Amino acid sequence: MRVAEISLPAIRHNVARIRELTGGAVIVVVKADGYGHGARAAAAAALEAGATMVATADLEEALALREAGIGAPILCWLHGVRVDFSEAVAAGIEIGISHAQQLEHLAAAATRLGRTAVVQLKVDTGLSRNGAAPEEWAPLFARAAELEAAGAIRVRGVFSHLANAGDAHDRAQAARFDEAIAALRAVGIEPELIHLAASAATLTLPHLHYNAVRVGVAAYGLSPFADKTSAQLGLVPAMTLRSEIVALRAVPAGTGVSYGYNHVCETATTLALVPMGYADGMPRALNGAGAWVTIAGEHRPIVGRIGMDQFIVDVGPIAGRIDLGEPVVLFGDPERGHPPVEIWAGLMRTINYEIIVGIGPRVRRIPVDAEPSVAAVDAPATAVGAPAAAGDAA
Ligand SMILES: *Cc1c(COP(=O)(O)O)cnc(C)c1O
Repeated sequence: MRVAEISLPAIRHNVARIRELTGGAVIVVVKADGYGHGARAAAAAALEAGATMVATADLEEALALREAGIGAPILCWLHGVRVDFSEAVAAGIEIGISHAQQLEHLAAAATRLGRTAVVQLKVDTGLSRNGAAPEEWAPLFARAAELEAAGAIRVRGVFSHLANAGDAHDRAQAARFDEAIAALRAVGIEPELIHLAASAATLTLPHLHYNAVRVGVAAYGLSPFADKTSAQLGLVPAMTLRSEIVALRAVPAGTGVSYGYNHVCETATTLALVPMGYADGMPRALNGAGAWVTIAGEHRPIVGRIGMDQFIVDVGPIAGRIDLGEPVVLFGDPERGHPPVEIWAGLMRTINYEIIVGIGPRVRRIPVDAEPSVAAVDAPATAVGAPAAAGDAA
C-alpha cells in the first residue's frame, strides 16, 4: 500500500541526456540507496544507459552493490577512521583518498592481499569538506607515486566537488583543481578520470566538465536548481510516490479532522484515508500548508495533521467517481499531472534531494521498466508552491 515506483526508462533517459550534454565519462552517484530510489536498480539502469561507473559515499554501500551483482567499476570516498579496506581491495572497489592515513591503510591492505588498489585522489578546492587540502597535495601525491611504482596502488582519477557558490567561486575552484592536476602530473601520475562537476555544473557549466562528470540528482530526473524544472532541463523524474485510498467517509459540515483539529470541514464533504505518514518520510509539517495529491486525475488537498502512518485527503468533489483502492499519487512527474516533489521541498524550506532520500523503509521500491502505472491526467499540472533552494545539495 506504500510504493515508490522507480521508472528505469526515466533513469536511462536522464543518463543518456547527461552523456549527450558532456561527451565524456559519466559517473552516476547512487549513495544513500540511490537517493532513495534503490541503489541496485538505479546503478543497473545507469550502466545500461552508458554510465562509465557508479559511486557511493560509503564503502559499505559500494560492497553491497558488488554483492548485488554490479560488476562495473564502483567508487566510494567517505571513510570512517577504523575502516578496513581489505574487503574493498578484494572486491575491486575504487577508493577515493582524502588524506595520507587513508592512503597508507589502503596500500597496506593491498600489499597484504598481493593486489593493486585502485585509487582516485579527492582534493578540496574550496568546499572545505572532504578531500585533501592544497598544503597536503605535494606529500600526498609524492607518496601516491611511490606506492604506484611499488605496485600497491594505481591512481585512476582525481576529483573535487564544487560549493555552487557562484561563477567567480566556481572559476577559483577550477583554477585550484587545475593546480592539483598539474601537481599530480609533476610526480609522474597521469589520471585517466578527471572530474569536478556534479549535477548543477554538469547541466549548465560545460567549461567545468573536464573528461568526466559525477551526477546524482540529475540521473534521477530532478533539478538541482530552484529556478529550473526537470522538464526545462530535459530530465524525467524517476520516482512516483503513491499509495491508495483505504477508507472513505462522508462527513457533515463542522467535522474536525485528525489530531488537534487544525482542519475543520467547512461544508459536508468526503474524506479519504491514505496509509502513508511521517514514518514514511512525509513531512509532518506539510499539514495545512497547501500540499496536494493527485487522485483520479484531480488535485486534492491534504487536510488535517499527518500521522505517523496515515493522512487524510478531502475528496468531496470527486467522491462520486472514486472507490476504495483508488491510486493516490503523492509526487511524481508533473508532466503527467502528478505533484512535483518540489512542492514538498518548498513548503519544508529544503531541497528535493532531502525529500527523496527521506522516503522511509516501509515504502516498497518497485522498479518498473514501462511507463508509470498510475494513469496520467490530460492536462499537465501548473507549478504550485515555492521552489527549493538550489545548490546546497549533497
Ligand atoms: C553527492 C555527491 C555528488 C552528486 O551530487 P548531485 O548534486 O546530486 O549531482 C557528487 N560528488 C560528490 C562528492 C558528492 O558527495
